[in-house]
Amino acid sequence: MTPEKLFAELLGLGLKWRVTECVFRKDRSQVDLQLEHTDEVWKRERCPQCGAEAKGYDGTEPLRWRHLNVMQYRGEIGARLPRGRCPQCGHTGRVRPPWEGKAGGFSKEFEACALLLLREMAVERAAQTLGETAPRLGRLLHKHGDAACAEADFSNVCCGGGTRCPCAKGPSISASSPI
Ligand SMILES: [Zn+2]
Repeated sequence: MTPEKLFAELLGLGLKWRVTECVFRKDRSQVDLQLEHTDEVWKRERCPQCGAEAKGYDGTEPLRWRHLNVMQYRGEIGARLPRGRCPQCGHTGRVRPPWEGKAGGFSKEFEACALLLLREMAVERAAQTLGETAPRLGRLLHKHGDAACAEADFSNVCCGGGTRCPCAKGPSISASSPI
């Protein structure tokens, strides 16, 4: 088995993506994986606007994602993402690869690892531990915070302590008020 096939299996790429190159850059203490899509990527790819079957159109510039370390070396994925065009409505958009996280520039697995660390320590310390910059990790944290807020159900939440709910008609209720 070649290193490319091994990493394709480890990444769980399936038939839509393949690893074309696997390079160990000793000077940067980094393992680079170059990925590309296969024709399978267009199977079941639908236009988000009208639901028609999307067709391959062009590709993005080369993009990079920070992934988990390979042994003690920084792991990164590089790829151009295919862009599709809808034959019905003309909408164009890039395919979302299976490894991509929410924050952009990170894999899902790296984001999960970073969020675990960020539960326990400050952004600066987590950034140092992961070999990342604090602004990049801060952006990751905010993206996940925004996504969690968007998914949260506040339908049963009304007044907070000491504040007046915009929907309340009576006097405000503070946390210390006897009810
Ligand atoms: Zn469409």
